[in-house]
Amino acid sequence: MSERLPVADRTQVRRDTTELLRTERGRVTRLVVLTLLAGAAGLVGPYLLGRIIDMVEDGTATLAAVDLMAVGVVVAACAQLVLTRYARRSTYRFGEHVLRRLREDFVGRALSLPTRVVERSGTGDLTTRASADVATVGETLRGALPDIALHTFQLVVLFGAIFWISPLLGLCVVVSIPLVVPVVRWYLRRSRQAYLAEGSTLSGALENVSATAEGGRTVEGLGIQGDRIEMTDRDVGLLYRARRGTLRLRTVLFPFAEGGFMMPSAIALLVGGVLYLNGGIALGALVTCLLYIEQAVNPMIRLTQWVEQIQRATASFARLRGMQRLPEESTTPGPVPEGDGITLVDVRYAYVPGHDVLRGIDLEIRPGERIAVVGPSGAGKTTIGRLLSGADVPGSGRVLVGGVPVGALSPGVLRERVVLVDQEHHVFTGSLRENIAIAAPDADDTRLLAALAAVDAGWVRDLPEGLDTAVGSGGVDLDPARAQQVALARVVLLDPHTVVLDEATSLLDPRTARAAERSLAAVLEGRTVIAIAHRLHTAHDADRVAVVEGGRITEIGPHDELIAAGGAYAALWASWHGTD
Ligand code: ADP
Repeated sequence: MSERLPVADRTQVRRDTTELLRTERGRVTRLVVLTLLAGAAGLVGPYLLGRIIDMVEDGTATLAAVDLMAVGVVVAACAQLVLTRYARRSTYRFGEHVLRRLREDFVGRALSLPTRVVERSGTGDLTTRASADVATVGETLRGALPDIALHTFQLVVLFGAIFWISPLLGLCVVVSIPLVVPVVRWYLRRSRQAYLAEGSTLSGALENVSATAEGGRTVEGLGIQGDRIEMTDRDVGLLYRARRGTLRLRTVLFPFAEGGFMMPSAIALLVGGVLYLNGGIALGALVTCLLYIEQAVNPMIRLTQWVEQIQRATASFARLRGMQRLPEESTTPGPVPEGDGITLVDVRYAYVPGHDVLRGIDLEIRPGERIAVVGPSGAGKTTIGRLLSGADVPGSGRVLVGGVPVGALSPGVLRERVVLVDQEHHVFTGSLRENIAIAAPDADDTRLLAALAAVDAGWVRDLPEGLDTAVGSGGVDLDPARAQQVALARVVLLDPHTVVLDEATSLLDPRTARAAERSLAAVLEGRTVIAIAHRLHTAHDADRVAVVEGGRITEIGPHDELIAAGGAYAALWASWHGTD
């Protein structure tokens, strides 16, 4: 069941934005000042043009004076060019800097999340946040501040100048602007929800598409292509509706706003014309005013666009920062387990509320003991393994490691004690050293090589660059057996007292599996082992065998005793022997 990751509320968004701007004060100031200077340089041209017209009209214009002013226009344009270049530069630096911090915070938090949180939320939600949401916020960061500063400044100066030249024209402009206020308010009331819904629908769609792609073989095997296509179609339908929702908001906002912003020009032309005919304003002054109003239209439209863009970015920002609401991996030491024992007390667990998969498991595992967990498919064996390794916490009851509930232990502390080895041996793209040192970042080469030697990975000596050899995608391809040895070398480095094995070698072909089991045996030496056994010979060698049926342990004891008892295990053993 997918549970979406949290979204930051308005208060947190406001607080985080203020905090970001505060820590970036220097950069923000520089970019705003440079932008304003560039804006100021841009105003000089129209002013000088108006003066030239006035002088020509008055008859006071001399060739030298007009030339001088023309030079002034060119100088102002050049200054604007240079200042804009530096303003843009500092804007991009600011944007990339903030974005880097946001990304690092996001990735840091994502990596410190307990596995169960990531599993429940699904990778689609995380991926959408890390890609689409980061892109939207980045786009806004790179543009919003300088643009808003510049356009607000331009508007203030332009309106100030218009008032100064002709208060009556200024008044006409100012009264016609509030015409767009209702439509902007209408938009703002709806936009947050609409954009959040769009983001969440996108996450859901991506989640399902990537699950279908990853499980392509299973989908084919079960012949459920039709269902998956139907689900994708449904997701696309939902996304289409969500996108239409936000598009509808934009199609109302922009035409109304842009239409509204044409009003000042129209009114000024009308009133200005009448004023000029009655001698109330000089032609040069009127032309300057009209040029200024014309210049003001673009900043007004751009500001409205920013209102829209900021709404969208705020929704993305809220989704990015929502991660901070999740419990962080505790940095405080927390309780320290005492002893190496593991105890399960009346453990119950349900993946789907109301459908208990484990229904009261009690088990006391002694240090150094080897327990095989057997039982029919779907009985809950893997779930027990997940709870033991802290990948999830029980719904009720307790899983105690050294007397401390698993959920109270920080992942770091737990990993030094209990490690789950399953069939997924992921090789990360990077060097072999990086792949192994994940388990012990401070380990030197001698320790790393010793860990590899312990799992029989003699092939390391034949690699072209030893530990520095690039492996994973694009590097040397490690076959499943080698990948498993790398995983086991990590276990050696972690040196846990307990290892939970879940089908660790079942995906390997028999020959490889035998070699892998030898490596495994070396790793398991001297540790407590809980083996979820799918091949019963593991059970035969165990100190005790626990039979799980329907979420309960129905039998437990040494192999010989259970055989003698003639119960479920004896039946399993007999049928396994019969078929093997
Ligand atoms: P086993 O390892 O004994 O085959 P599992 O522990 O894998 O059994 O599964 C126990 C039950 O829980 C099964 O009925 C299975 O369908 C169900 N189950 C396992 N994983 C999930 C999951 N992620 N979501 C919902 N149900 C699950």
